[in-house]
Amino acid sequence: MALLQISEPGGKPTTPAHRIAVGIDLGTTNSLVSASCGAGVEVLPDASGNYLLPSVVAYASDTDPVVGSVARAQSTKDPKNTISSVKRLLGRALSEVEQAPQFKQYEFDAERGDGAPAIVTAAGVKDPIQVSADILQTLVYQAEHSLKAKLEGAVITVPAYFNDAQRQQTKDAAKLIGLNVLRLLNEPTAAAVAYGLDSKEQGTVVVFDLGGGTFDVSLLRLQSGVFEVLATGGDTALGGDDFDHAIVDWIKQQAGFQVLSSTDEAKLLHYATSMKHQLSNSEEVSIEFNGWSGSLSASDFRDITEALVKRTILTCRRVLRDAQLEVEAIDNIVMVGGSTRMPVVRQAVEKFFGKAPLTDIDPDKVVAIGAGIQADVLIGNKSADDFLLLDVTPLSLGIETMGELVEKIIPRNTTIPVAKAQEFTTFKDGQTAMALHVVQGERELVSDCRSLARFELRDIPPMVAGAAKIRVTFQVDADGLLSVMAEELSTGTKAEIQVKPSYGLNADAIEEMLKVSHENAKADMEIRALREAQIEAKQLIDAINSAREIDGDLLEASEARQIDNAIEHLASLIASGTSVQIHESTEELNRISSLFAARRMDLHIGEALKGESIDKVEQ
Ligand code: AMP
Repeated sequence: MALLQISEPGGKPTTPAHRIAVGIDLGTTNSLVSASCGAGVEVLPDASGNYLLPSVVAYASDTDPVVGSVARAQSTKDPKNTISSVKRLLGRALSEVEQAPQFKQYEFDAERGDGAPAIVTAAGVKDPIQVSADILQTLVYQAEHSLKAKLEGAVITVPAYFNDAQRQQTKDAAKLIGLNVLRLLNEPTAAAVAYGLDSKEQGTVVVFDLGGGTFDVSLLRLQSGVFEVLATGGDTALGGDDFDHAIVDWIKQQAGFQVLSSTDEAKLLHYATSMKHQLSNSEEVSIEFNGWSGSLSASDFRDITEALVKRTILTCRRVLRDAQLEVEAIDNIVMVGGSTRMPVVRQAVEKFFGKAPLTDIDPDKVVAIGAGIQADVLIGNKSADDFLLLDVTPLSLGIETMGELVEKIIPRNTTIPVAKAQEFTTFKDGQTAMALHVVQGERELVSDCRSLARFELRDIPPMVAGAAKIRVTFQVDADGLLSVMAEELSTGTKAEIQVKPSYGLNADAIEEMLKVSHENAKADMEIRALREAQIEAKQLIDAINSAREIDGDLLEASEARQIDNAIEHLASLIASGTSVQIHESTEELNRISSLFAARRMDLHIGEALKGESIDKVEQ
């Protein structure tokens, strides 16, 4: 049996050992792993000093999977067995992805029962969870090797727009290799954390992420240490590659190259990428290619890429519009992704937002660093004061029940996305509709909470009170949107509503609500106990009254009088008694009426058995 350690009273607390947890940026093209190392969080390199692990896995029949640059190098030689961009397959159905051009080279296993886009390779069929697990395994190895210690957990980043299935499969991949996931963290949130923006009281942050092939913009709002995604936008077909192609087209035009061999095309593209990188640090680069020489200036580059840059700004404008915010409302812009090194991009962003974006941290590492910071906190290496609350519900979400009481379904500070269900029942015999009132706050009475929405569930089949089963499911997605669904389980009748719980709620209002709830905690508990006792008492009185309407003749006159008196007494206590008095009188009424209940049961069992053979009864 394990022994629990208890420190000596008054003794010195022992300093807990530094525990090892990593941050993982599991990217579409490249993945990174980071950890807290003394001075701060650093990205951990592999044995050759590389910190970017290409997210590519090569499978062969006779060896373990090969992950990273070696796999990427062989992708043109053996495309069928070399899997890239697996992140785009996570949480998707085969039917959604099999026609996509970037997956054309793969043979998908069409017979697989679960509809996952599993790929047939020389080492067997590999589903996206397995492929992601192989990438994670390499990162874990890289981290353990570099830190010379065993990992205790990881924070893994996912795009803000990932749905539940995509998030779940990311977790499943970690589980497959026994990696303890401390948390999934939204990539833009991680980037904001890397810049320490979570330590501010409130603010709005735009995360501008321009990688090699994709572009994402997220607009986050921070309130009391909680990040909420207000809007996201992007372009899955816009990235650094398009800037490379723009240079290729420009050189071809300047040099008058008509047709190039495929080898020369590939060389020219490679050359263009290197020119683009040089232009991030110089005003002009000279070109020597296939006997043609010339130069490309920063201003030429600006002209030839103007349309691409404009597209990124248009997306920012759209995201602001979706969140109904003006550009002046943005406090910080965080740059993520290798392509944000381009001065043309930085300048356009600065011009649009009217302030310089944050660029101090390497844009390739910023997401991994934020994840590493969060991992270090979650594993317990920081004091409680440093504890970050990220992507959580700032206030409890619940539903009104009888007596105007609140039943909390999702408690405050629950990590989102989250789904929770609870079963409710009808209060009255024959009740065919139920009014659902969704509220937010910490108080026990509905009138002390914020009303978020009301809706009705109709067509409940008539039953005796308490027999119907109504499942109410609360689901908060990654963007903080709450969906509430009520379902009557015997018929499957449903009703649903969606609300944005944060709408119109600022940090001051949240703080005020929490303060008032603390101040009233004791009074709230008392009123809850009173309301519950009143409801219980009323239910018993109603049940006895309806039983007497049917079987009143089972009672002797004196017994009926005794019950009448007890009911009258209880009714007066419901109006003005304490919860303890009501509770005691309810028990008393229960005791007095128990003989009546027993007689009714005997009578109805007797009726039910009439006509049955003895054999059947004994069965
Ligand atoms: P990522 O997907 O975030 O790794 O970004 C890769 C993209 O960043 C590629 O298109 C690279 O060409 C581009 N990139 C990396 N370094 C630079 C640089 N110094 N200047 C311009 N683009 C760069």
